Amino acid sequence: MIKTIRDEYGLVSPQVLGVMLKVPRHEFVPKGFQKVAYEDKPIEIGFGQTMSQPYTVAMMTHLATEIPNTKYQFSNRLQNTNRTSGKIKRRKVLEIGTGSGYQAALLSYFFDEVYTIEIIPQLSEFGRNNLFRLGYKNVFVREGSGEYGWKEKSPFDAIIITAALEKDLPPVLKTQLVKGGILVAPIGPRYSQVMTRFARLKNGKFKKEEFQKFVFVPFVRNE
Ligand code: SAH
Repeated sequence: MIKTIRDEYGLVSPQVLGVMLKVPRHEFVPKGFQKVAYEDKPIEIGFGQTMSQPYTVAMMTHLATEIPNTKYQFSNRLQNTNRTSGKIKRRKVLEIGTGSGYQAALLSYFFDEVYTIEIIPQLSEFGRNNLFRLGYKNVFVREGSGEYGWKEKSPFDAIIITAALEKDLPPVLKTQLVKGGILVAPIGPRYSQVMTRFARLKNGKFKKEEFQKFVFVPFVRNE
């Protein structure tokens, strides 16, 4: 899996690949899928939802943990959390779309606290159980819609949305980011979304960067 991400897709971040080596993906897949857990494909987790393929997860993790516009890359969790240089202290991240909990587990190595919200109760339970069984103590799972963020725990240094937004971001999410914080989300129509990263600038404006296209399950939205 790591070889594919590094050699075929060219994502070479040693930090992200190092953490992917540590997190047992086969412990997050539903029963019967252990054998394919490290293959380059998405895996169905029930209720019409899927865990993204490993490369997609790697890419999102990379975008959420890298500081845009600097050459600085995290070398390990300790340095990361104690770091004072750079603009962003990566303390808290919000993930929307817990699913299996795999993405949250990866994020737990980069941030002090990971907050993750899942709208489908059974999947919230599935993700929570996986994370608990494997001892990820700094990950907090909540059932509900991520559309409104997680106000009590905000602001976040980063927000990562693992379901597809059709167009714009839910406005509340922008307000739950620290200045200098970043938000990563796939945005676009049903079968093709552009991976997008927003950085909240000091002056309150948002800078937008666009990356490759992916296909995600839809983000459920009321408003
Ligand atoms: N990150 C997951 C994969 C998530 S698939 C993993 O690592 O396994 C996307 C998930 O987003 C699905 O489980 C879906 O139910 C959830 N989702 C979609 N819209 C949502 C919303 N508004 N709030 C919270 N979760 C949502």
